[in-house]
Amino acid sequence: MQIETFEASGLSPEILKALKEIGFEQPTPIQAQTLPHLLSGNQQDLVALAQTGTGKTAAFGLPLVELADPSSKSVQGLVLCPTRELCIQISKDLQSFSKYKKGLNVLPVYGGASITPQIKDLKQGAQLVIGTPGRVIDLMKRKALDIRDISWLVLDEADEMLNMGFKDDLDTILTGASEEKQTLLFSATMPKEIAMISSNYMNNALEISVSKKNTTSSNVNHVFYMVQAKDRYLALKRIADLQPDIYGIIFCRTRRECKEVSEKLMHDGYNADALHGDLSQVQRDYVMNRFRIRNIQLLVATDVAARGLDVNELTHVINYNLPDEAEVYVHRSGRTGRAGNKGTSVSIIHSREMGKIRIIEKKGNFKFERLQVPNGKEICEKQLFSLIDKVEQVSVDGDEIEEFMDVIYKKLSWLERDELIKKFVSIEFNRFLEYYKDAPDLNKNVKEKRERDSSFSDRGDRNGSKGGRRGSNGYKKYSRYFINLGEKNSLNPAKLIGLINKQFRNEKIPVGNIEIMKSFSFFEIDSEFSTSFPESFSNLSYQGIPVNVEPANAKPSGRDSRGGGGGRSRSGNGEGFRKKKFGNSKRKWD
Ligand code: AMP
Repeated sequence: MQIETFEASGLSPEILKALKEIGFEQPTPIQAQTLPHLLSGNQQDLVALAQTGTGKTAAFGLPLVELADPSSKSVQGLVLCPTRELCIQISKDLQSFSKYKKGLNVLPVYGGASITPQIKDLKQGAQLVIGTPGRVIDLMKRKALDIRDISWLVLDEADEMLNMGFKDDLDTILTGASEEKQTLLFSATMPKEIAMISSNYMNNALEISVSKKNTTSSNVNHVFYMVQAKDRYLALKRIADLQPDIYGIIFCRTRRECKEVSEKLMHDGYNADALHGDLSQVQRDYVMNRFRIRNIQLLVATDVAARGLDVNELTHVINYNLPDEAEVYVHRSGRTGRAGNKGTSVSIIHSREMGKIRIIEKKGNFKFERLQVPNGKEICEKQLFSLIDKVEQVSVDGDEIEEFMDVIYKKLSWLERDELIKKFVSIEFNRFLEYYKDAPDLNKNVKEKRERDSSFSDRGDRNGSKGGRRGSNGYKKYSRYFINLGEKNSLNPAKLIGLINKQFRNEKIPVGNIEIMKSFSFFEIDSEFSTSFPESFSNLSYQGIPVNVEPANAKPSGRDSRGGGGGRSRSGNGEGFRKKKFGNSKRKWD
């Protein structure tokens, strides 16, 4: 059963009043499923596949505040969650739901803070306790927290609790709690360890899941940049430099990576800091607070540490490394594009990670766009115009500055207007010009165009080779491909070249031998572009047909349907044949 309004769920008027004040008008899909089940008094356990952002806190929180009995002071519901921040967040949410329910106490208990006041608070009585597993066990051992009679046990972000090594603690709590309790398990992912908890500790649980669509906001734009693994950090800097007003989280896989990246960014003058598990609670609070008030523009964080950080205005989420699980990507990207804002989820990948991109696309039900890492010129332009905008918009405190103006006018009076503007702007701009004047192209496989287009990148090619697209004998090396389109699809060489260029965002890839067959074709492209080449076509349709491009043998000896053949091909190194046949000689590469 699902409900469409909170009124239909059976929530009491005092809870409905609070919801109205908070601004919840309609149940989210997960709430529409959990509320009728839990509020009807049905004791069946529940396993819910749900991520942050789906409204899961209210999905279990509303029934708990509704059903808890304020006339008894003993603990009736225990919610376990992985971090202190989440613990506080959940408590605040439950407290606001129960604002008009007299006598109901919701108490957060978590590690990293003195246990004594928590023991005192527990003694005074709390019907609902929200805790991190370690601290809960501690309190149980000290006999300050008794869970032998609880009615509800909620495991929130169960997968994260397991990731953080709370497995044993969870076992202890699950076995120590009342036999009669109803267990509610919420998890963003369902690894087999979660299934084990469900089968070991829960009875015939009702399973619900909310579709990904609710978590992948259409306000999020998913993009990736493909670079060599060693250039990841440089690419990150360029991405940040291209967005002067960026406000985002950079996700790293490990604490170590998190530290390294944040230290480098800080060293390089960025407004950044790190959030990871090695920090003390005081340090974490300090960093989070600075990020919330935007004293920090870029927060470098691990997934776990970033939990509980609820910021709605992030412009970007950056995946410095793609996570191993697609769900985690969806979760990360859901941190931007919130509350009606637009956001961008950026991933920096290397050429062997296209498979991961495809898996994420499938799971998340969205498409990525490949972007080219900006070159120095593009970044300098962007920074320059941002600076000009700021100059235009800055408010001038007339009184304060007035007393200095005479001296300033005198000192600068020898400068012409033009000269003066240039100098002011250069104070900031020179920094970028200087840094990017020797900047190499970081894009995997698209070196030449940048070199030709940008005076900034000419000098910066690490290999020092401006003519690097030729093989050692002066000829380009070509790779040969099969494509499932041919004459019958009205494909001709010009259309094929157009198709290839389009996939590379008009980078004008050198094309070699082209053989158009009846229902398929072969073509060659400069080998330097070949690494990510077939993947670039994986989402393309041509006249309604999904395009399939696959590597084909370089020197065919017989024909088959998959590129083994091609008796007509004469291509050895491709160059000679290319000129002779579909020479493409007008292209600017030749
Ligand atoms: P959660 O998944 O519990 O972290 O919730 C994500 C966000 O959605 C929080 O900011 C909640 O305040 C908000 N939210 C939860 N339920 C609703 C609702 N029914 N209507 C509007 N906002 C909601």
